[in-house]
Amino acid sequence: MLDTNTVRKISFGNSVIEYSVIKSKRRKTSQIMVDGEEVIVRTPVTKKNSEIKKIVESKASWIFKKQLEFKKRIDVNYIPKKYTKKFLLKQVNSYAGKVGITPSKVTIKKMRTRWGSASKDNVINLNEHLLKAPKGAIDYVILHEICHLKIRNHSHRFWELVRKFMPNYIENRKWLEVNSTRIVE
Ligand SMILES: [Zn+2]
Repeated sequence: MLDTNTVRKISFGNSVIEYSVIKSKRRKTSQIMVDGEEVIVRTPVTKKNSEIKKIVESKASWIFKKQLEFKKRIDVNYIPKKYTKKFLLKQVNSYAGKVGITPSKVTIKKMRTRWGSASKDNVINLNEHLLKAPKGAIDYVILHEICHLKIRNHSHRFWELVRKFMPNYIENRKWLEVNSTRIVE
């Protein structure tokens, strides 16, 4: 019999662990199941609620760990972010050092049409969707925008500057062209 009308609770540190109880006549021992966030305790019908609570309390740290593992799995599966904003800023600093020019400011935000841009007052804007791209593509966009701080157009001189710091830049640019829709949408 599932004790659904009461979701019981215990506190564990700053967290609350909720659990439901299923009592069964056939059962001789108690068992705790953690399925994602849900905790179900199966016990013999004779177990008192206070005893069940004690069992859950004694296993609280184990339950909490299981729930945490589940949350982490969700993060890995559903949030495709591979890199962090901090990583983007690190790469900006690194390429700025190589090219020998420093942006006045770097902003990272979601943009629909561009991977990056460089403004006249030397602000570099990077598309937050870059976090999902491979490192080569990220580095290419950053280098491209930093080179624009020196050369504002796409002249031969500009591409020579890009090539100087990334001889295989065409490969990375291709990746961005091919994957643009997939990443941005
Ligand atoms: Zn450009």
